Amino acid sequence: MTQVKIIGGGLAGCEAAWQLAERGIKVDLYEMRPEKSTPAHQTSELAELVCSNSFRSDDKLSNAVGILHEELRICGSLIMKAADKHKVPAGSALAVDRNLFSAEVTKHISDHKNIKLIQKEVKNIPDDWENIIIATGPLTSEPLSKFILNKSSNDSLYFFDAIAPIIYSDSIDMSAAWFQSRYNKVGPSGSLNDYINCPLNESQYLQFVDELIDADRASFNDWEIDTPYFDSCLPIEVIARSGPQTLRHGPMKPFGLNNPHKKGDEPYAVVQLRQDDITGQLYNMVGFQTKIKYGHQTDIFKKIPGLCNARFARLGGIHRNTYINSPKLLLSNLSLISDQRIKFAGQITGVEGYVESTSMGLISSLMTYNKLKMRNQIPPPETTAMGSLISYITRKDDVKNFQPMNINFGLFEKMNISDIRKKPKRIRDIEKKNRIAQRAENDLNEWLSSNFA
Ligand SMILES: Cc1cc2nc3c(=O)[nH]c(=O)nc-3n(C[C@H](O)[C@H](O)[C@H](O)COP(=O)(O)OP(=O)(O)OC[C@H]3O[C@@H](n4cnc5c(N)ncnc54)[C@H](O)[C@@H]3O)c2cc1C
Repeated sequence: MTQVKIIGGGLAGCEAAWQLAERGIKVDLYEMRPEKSTPAHQTSELAELVCSNSFRSDDKLSNAVGILHEELRICGSLIMKAADKHKVPAGSALAVDRNLFSAEVTKHISDHKNIKLIQKEVKNIPDDWENIIIATGPLTSEPLSKFILNKSSNDSLYFFDAIAPIIYSDSIDMSAAWFQSRYNKVGPSGSLNDYINCPLNESQYLQFVDELIDADRASFNDWEIDTPYFDSCLPIEVIARSGPQTLRHGPMKPFGLNNPHKKGDEPYAVVQLRQDDITGQLYNMVGFQTKIKYGHQTDIFKKIPGLCNARFARLGGIHRNTYINSPKLLLSNLSLISDQRIKFAGQITGVEGYVESTSMGLISSLMTYNKLKMRNQIPPPETTAMGSLISYITRKDDVKNFQPMNINFGLFEKMNISDIRKKPKRIRDIEKKNRIAQRAENDLNEWLSSNFA
């Protein structure tokens, strides 16, 4: 008898189905293609890569996504097995032959005795389904999106990511920037200093506005143009085009801010950065969602005083992307708080990228497995890449503007490296990453043996 229904035969759904089936659980996997496709998918294969053929860096010692690769391999991931088998030369990155990769995954899923593949769109979740994983991705079909919208609340399902760039805080020059909340108002953390402020004088501001207006922009796909909710997230360069002073009265307004480096004067304009992670390693540029091409973003944003040496954890973007407000809706075992029959997996949970989506498929299935075995559903610790992603999407602190995230070192639990503080920065950075990688591997193995032995 079927024990788990999985909706969506993408990277996350296939990984989830495989993990459960390999543990002896009977799974129905629903995939709507080829009967109904999405605007981006081209084939009827499972686990189709809709764009790039790259799984990004495979460096398991000093790259965050490389650590995630390794964790997935340790957990016996089908997606990683197929990727490793069909990799193509790509330097230190893991890139794959997309057709062979998808065919390999499709064959393993179709041949598995515990998986029944049903090629049909799921429009809602019937009351008599007991254990469900929704892994329908960034292009979830409309009827199911409506069902999810009804299950949650109107402000809990998004159709676009409007991503503002995120910067590592240790790369911000605080001899130009300063901490202060507007009008010194106490923020949710109880502090008067919730924001980092980067000041611009009049000529810097006007030149910055000109550069935004002239910047090379990425365009929308035809099928993205009519997607709802776009009005609420205007790109910064579009705001700039509406008049030279508009930004100064919008996201770059200086009012209520006093520059301590200039005797407390109010600057002409300000770029504000807001903390993006619990440990304060990451700050996002408030209101700076943009369609400017990546190379131009770094050129332009590094001209902002305080950001000349900025390292970007991610650049800005605006894409069609259906995702839920996970901090509000999900428990840390990826169950929907309001209906715990349902778990979510993949990009729809608010992670971003092939590997991140796969990992949320894997965790969702392991949590489902333990639920069926009546064991505790404990996610991996925040010292691991998978645990840090779970923690990012299900954190219960005051999340105002939940945005999808790739894995990056800023999400991992902080590591004490005071013993290497005196080493040169370059060596210290490498050693810190190596230590985080080693800690992640050890802690993941310990988590697996304590929870799934
Ligand atoms: C245009 C575009 C380009 C992208 N480019 C990249 C990139 O280059 N690199 C990268 O890392 N990430 C990229 N992404 C993000 C990428 O989609 C995800 O990283 C990854 O595919 C998500 O995996 P998933 O399993 O969550 O969803 P998907 O891989 O999209 O799988 C979801 C599956 O669910 C099916 N489905 C949807 N609704 C239903 C339903 N109601 N019933 C049954 N089946 C349903 C779909 O047909 C699909 O097969 C891109 C996304 C888009 C939209």
